[in-house]
Amino acid sequence: MFWCEGIVLKTRPMGEADRVVVLYTKERGKVGTAAKGSRRPKNRLSAVVQPFTRGRFFLGERATGLKDLNQGNILESNQNIRDDLLKMAACNYFLELIDASVETEDPDESLYRLILLGLKLIGLSTDLDLALRYLEFQLLNILGWGLQLGKCTSCGKELTDEYKFSPTEGGLTCIGCRKGDEVILTPKSRAILAGFERLHPRTVLKLKLAREDHEELEKIMRLAWDARMEKQPKAWQFWKQVSSLEK
Ligand SMILES: [Zn+2]
Repeated sequence: MFWCEGIVLKTRPMGEADRVVVLYTKERGKVGTAAKGSRRPKNRLSAVVQPFTRGRFFLGERATGLKDLNQGNILESNQNIRDDLLKMAACNYFLELIDASVETEDPDESLYRLILLGLKLIGLSTDLDLALRYLEFQLLNILGWGLQLGKCTSCGKELTDEYKFSPTEGGLTCIGCRKGDEVILTPKSRAILAGFERLHPRTVLKLKLAREDHEELEKIMRLAWDARMEKQPKAWQFWKQVSSLEK
């Protein structure tokens, strides 16, 4: 048995009154747990297993499969995200990206810090599209799939004007190295992405983007992610539906 600190990535019902709770923990990375009885209203686990909660969790080892979630204390409830449909949809999408791209029990402290930052940014931001683009960008970096925006991904030539963006290469290509999947990336969007690399997240959240910038960045990041994942996250569609209703 051991204590760890983590975030609730997702939950699903199991049996009559139980839940499967997937955590991302600082010490062990992604861990699947079983929270017995946590769907009963007065159960002591029912609050700490709410999605987006940061808590301390007391887990019991089993030889295979899920660990037992025996106890938990809330460190941050992040109730403000659950209370807001848009923020909730954005956060579900961000956490599904993480869930789908990491293996179980492969801890990464920088990823853990990004999850905490993500919850904070989504909680505070008034431009959730921008917050999501920033988080998608940082997550690609942490997973070793960072976008290459200065040099040609094939020949390494420094690129100034004649370039395009290749989703499968994960960056820019020069005319001579085109693969055939390239799309246009305007200098403005390229500069915004370069800003994601070096600016403090608080500064990034103050950027004011035009609608066409938002559309282009969304398209580029979607292509970059789709080139790396077997399937599009389910939460992406829900986020798009909810956010288009708001606009
Ligand atoms: Zn090249």
